[in-house]
Amino acid sequence: VNDTLGHSFGDVLLIKVAERLSSTVNEDILVARFGGDEFIILLPEISCTDEVVSFADKLIKRFREPWHINGYDLFSTISVGITIYPRDGSDIVELLKNADMAMYKAKEMGKNNYQFYKPSMREKIIERSELEKSLHRAILNNEFILEYQPQFDIEENRIVSLEALIRWAHPTKGLIPPSAFISLAEETGLISEIGSWVMETACREMKALHDYGYKGLMVSINISSVQLQKEGFVDLVKDILERTGLEPQYLELEITESLMIDNFDDNIAILNELKKLGIKISLDDFGTGYSSLNYLKQIPLSTLKIDKSFITDIEKDSAQKFIIEAIISLAQKIGLEVTAEGVESVEQFKYLKELHCDRVQGFLVSKPEPASKLVAMLESGSKVL
Ligand code: C2E
Ligand code: CA
Ligand code: CA
Repeated sequence: VNDTLGHSFGDVLLIKVAERLSSTVNEDILVARFGGDEFIILLPEISCTDEVVSFADKLIKRFREPWHINGYDLFSTISVGITIYPRDGSDIVELLKNADMAMYKAKEMGKNNYQFYKPSMREKIIERSELEKSLHRAILNNEFILEYQPQFDIEENRIVSLEALIRWAHPTKGLIPPSAFISLAEETGLISEIGSWVMETACREMKALHDYGYKGLMVSINISSVQLQKEGFVDLVKDILERTGLEPQYLELEITESLMIDNFDDNIAILNELKKLGIKISLDDFGTGYSSLNYLKQIPLSTLKIDKSFITDIEKDSAQKFIIEAIISLAQKIGLEVTAEGVESVEQFKYLKELHCDRVQGFLVSKPEPASKLVAMLESGSKVL
């Protein structure tokens, strides 16, 4: 309201909020403005938590009514965090701090709701901030490593590509999988730095394999939408290719459909620029998101990766088999190659071969391995199947 209608308008709204809050409670109850748009209500005597619940419900209901200010009709939301003495804190400072945490939880849950404080809220916040701190340290100390998982071409009967997968070699906790830190890295923006490191390292290590004699091998790198949308991403990729000497046609970037939710047009423009450089784009985890066939035409893709969850039941579920068959033939008709992810058994491999899937990736061929084991993996790669 301050930004769009001005501060004096915001001040009037605050006064109206204060009036409405006061009129919701009895006279002996304290209502105070704490700061900004935060208010405190102190219910001095309650007999049970149900009483608090019905009070919170009443508050939320009253805030659904519009505000009439200077001829405008405005709507607002309310988020309520609740602490109870002495259960949730022995003094006012602690009660307020914990109520604040509960209020943020209410905001997170989509606003217009109330949340009681729970100790797990504090633990989660502490855990998160610890993780964030150690992630900063990990970047400074170079605690990340890459492992590579092969993509096996069924017709050519050999490994044609390696997907780079990051791990965090934590000094005390051991190897931490990406699922434990990538989303925090995205939320905090640290993903840009981590992602640049991944790309530079993967390109350099792939170039070394080319020089060793594995010319023609491709490297796939997972790109988060935060990275792609950061100003200068295309230049960064160009720089890294130049510095490492890897030719662009050997680089493939894996993106997910979620990338397409916002800024669709901008993202398509960036992907088209990358394609012009000769870089390939593949769509990861296909089948878990929107699976929009419409997107498939619009994104400049070269590969579709069918998610592991589709492959798992391929032997047992005949409907599943038909779905995969349809996806493969449709993708191939519009000029895409298809990689099946998470292939673990010979039976799954056989089905996929029957369905004319182009490539498979999964534990059947190999689990992800560090760079030091790649030559041995590539040597034995074609003997696996
Ligand atoms: P993803 O891109 O779908 O990667 C495939 C995941 O499936 C990998 O898990 C891999 O180890 C696992 N996998 C491969 N074959 C099999 C199999 O046969 N069976 C089973 N059960 N699992 C298999 P990982 O390495 O833990 O990576 C998880 C996710 O983290 C990746 O999913 C990717 O989305 C993300 N990730 C990994 N590295 C990076 C990175 O450098 N940058 C970004 N932004 N995300 C990354
Ligand atoms: Ca991937
Ligand atoms: Ca995947």
